[in-house]
Amino acid sequence: DRVDNPYANAGVYVNPDWSAHAAAEPGGDAIANEPTAVWLDRRAAITGGSAGNSTGLREHLDNALVQAQDHENFVFQVVVYNLPGRDCAALASNGELAADDIDTYKNEFIDPIAEILSDPAYADLRIVTIVEIDSLPNLITNVSPRETATENCDTMLANGNYQEGIAYALQELGAIPNVYNYVDAGHYGWIGWDDNFGASAELFHDVAVQSGSVDNVHGFIVNTANYGPTTEPYYSINDSVGGVSVRQSDWVDWNRYVDNQSFAQGFRQELISQGFDSGIGMLIDTSRNGWGGPDRPTGPGPMTDVNAYVEGSRLDGRFQAGNWCNQSGAGLGERPQASPATGIDAYAWIKPPGESDGSSELIDNDEGKGFDRMCDPTYEGNPRNNFNMSGALPNAPLSGHWFSAQFQELLANAYPPV
Ligand code: BGC
Repeated sequence: DRVDNPYANAGVYVNPDWSAHAAAEPGGDAIANEPTAVWLDRRAAITGGSAGNSTGLREHLDNALVQAQDHENFVFQVVVYNLPGRDCAALASNGELAADDIDTYKNEFIDPIAEILSDPAYADLRIVTIVEIDSLPNLITNVSPRETATENCDTMLANGNYQEGIAYALQELGAIPNVYNYVDAGHYGWIGWDDNFGASAELFHDVAVQSGSVDNVHGFIVNTANYGPTTEPYYSINDSVGGVSVRQSDWVDWNRYVDNQSFAQGFRQELISQGFDSGIGMLIDTSRNGWGGPDRPTGPGPMTDVNAYVEGSRLDGRFQAGNWCNQSGAGLGERPQASPATGIDAYAWIKPPGESDGSSELIDNDEGKGFDRMCDPTYEGNPRNNFNMSGALPNAPLSGHWFSAQFQELLANAYPPV
């Protein structure tokens, strides 16, 4: 029933909530018609009312049916993001469910979503679900005895509720013939190191098996809500300077990859070798990884030494690849498109550009959102970004809330330019 690539020959849903925010910004009209994902980031979002996004899931799907009339095939992208003990390695997007609230997750979050998505009225839509970002990779990289461990990730590894919740989501959503589950696979600057790569693929496979069938997984997504470039055109992992590999540069730091597309392609092979179907496809979130503007390199750096070469070559303008919050200097990336490269089903805008990653100072709220100092521009870092400056923009609102100054910067630094 399912096609190999749901994005092939298909229109993609334009979220009217996001579109209205974008269109209200100076210059925003130019991109307000791009498709972005709908985020179900709490139970209440199913019926509507999340962080200024008032449209509920059924209403979105009804809108999608109308938009679909202009297309032969049509994709509806929805992020399923409400695990118990959510985002255990960061505070900005901690959610509404406590570490042991697994029954609430199943009964009051996944079940009602599955009920709506399985309505025969929506059977002709290709429903792409982005399943639980920032979860499983944390169980590999941010747990004891690693220096990067957090107490919350140790708790979630011990109680098994990320695995159980995701397996349940994959099973319930995977049972709907027109749903395409894509599991979050982090990004190159997280899973690209040898210690994390195979272990993550193995964990994903275990969870898919736990869901009842590996075929509940249609593919994986990388770089969701992150800033790593799709490709680094001016240097590659195979380069060396004076006999020293770029892997030994401070920036690459022994990673096997320097960008998300090569990582996605390599990780896809690893997933297949762990037991996933050879037809799985990858998505790359390109909403904010453009790195255009005046500081963008126009060619390779000097061959004087490996650090000078990498520093001069890299598009990625961050202090460190572990930085994730409202990155200063970032721009919109590749516009959404189907089948851009081998093994890649689509470039997609999953994080709606202009929605904050987290507040730059503590803001009281009833959304379960904490204050993470990675969103504070004065913060000097922690083991997870190797004690670098956060690189975050100042004056940011709570995660998910509209952040006009960031939107403006993303437009100005877009690459390809808008
Ligand atoms: C927030 C969510 C929001 C999403 C999309 C996440 O960081 O925690 O509330 O829906 O970003 O902007």
